[in-house]
Amino acid sequence: MPFIDIHPTREDCRRSIVLFGRNVASYKFALAESLLELARNEPTFVSMEELAVPFSQHIAEHLRHIDKQATSTSSRFLEAVRQFNRGTLDQDALVRKTVALGFQNVIDAFHVVNRETIQTRFFFDERKQRGGIVITDDLLKLKETLQFPNLPLETEARWRLVETAWDLGLNPALLSVRYDSGSSLLYVRNRSRERIDVTSSRDALDGYQKGKCFYCFREISIVPTSPVLADVDHFLPHTLLTLDDINANLNGIWNLVLACRECNRGEKGKSARVPKLKYLERLHRRNNNLIESHHPLRDTLISQTGATETSRQQFLQQQYSAAKSLVVHDWAPAEELEAAF
Ligand SMILES: [Zn+2]
Repeated sequence: MPFIDIHPTREDCRRSIVLFGRNVASYKFALAESLLELARNEPTFVSMEELAVPFSQHIAEHLRHIDKQATSTSSRFLEAVRQFNRGTLDQDALVRKTVALGFQNVIDAFHVVNRETIQTRFFFDERKQRGGIVITDDLLKLKETLQFPNLPLETEARWRLVETAWDLGLNPALLSVRYDSGSSLLYVRNRSRERIDVTSSRDALDGYQKGKCFYCFREISIVPTSPVLADVDHFLPHTLLTLDDINANLNGIWNLVLACRECNRGEKGKSARVPKLKYLERLHRRNNNLIESHHPLRDTLISQTGATETSRQQFLQQQYSAAKSLVVHDWAPAEELEAAF
């Protein structure tokens, strides 16, 4: 099959900032969430004082949840936010401290992914000239997309995964994440084997599907109240879990995709059938994409499916063959929109 070039959209760029950037502190997540909130009011310029308000609030909220928000041990900024959380620093003082200490690297680093600056810019740094940032049309136009409500949830999911790994003293890539099909939550176990719920599996998986159904590419949402809320679908049906021939963990991340309701359980939906072979190729691409990123789910996937692309392909083939020989019938959606990933 020939390779084709793709042209990243604004949403792709925003997602890649949050999904693929390496993190030494959680400030990038806080800035991404702040920008998405500010975009609602369509500003053209945001002063550092204005930016400091949502930015410090997000950090404060996360510090209350998990005290580790950076890989380095000391940070004057984080210490100021802790004082705010303890009630020994007021809001105005927190904003002043945030302006002075909170943005040192994050403004410069925000658009850098894999050591390169991405093409789409969501703001320009005019701190020296005007004491703030100039908001670009590319940020404001994000607001018009159907995917806009999904973006803060995806950012939050990634943030929760990263801080959980730091809290457990792990490289985020080494976080071993499990799926609870009852609650659709991703969770980890700490050293005492206690379960820690981390985030919704929908929120964590959506970034790679760009808000589209895995099978038919219709728009899906991860906002719980949405009428088009995505289903978490087992690619190979979990009804096979009871059969001896399937030895893999069908509740593994490798086997979970987000699907629209029609595909998952509609009249012509997949239900307990096995998707056609081309969807297995798509699943392989999705899993490789996750592994090639610095995503916290990376090592979980490797441990479930193999360390090399070839071994992962063999693994998928084995599971697929075993499942199909049991289920016999395969399935494809009635119509498929233009490919989004
Ligand atoms: Zn669908």
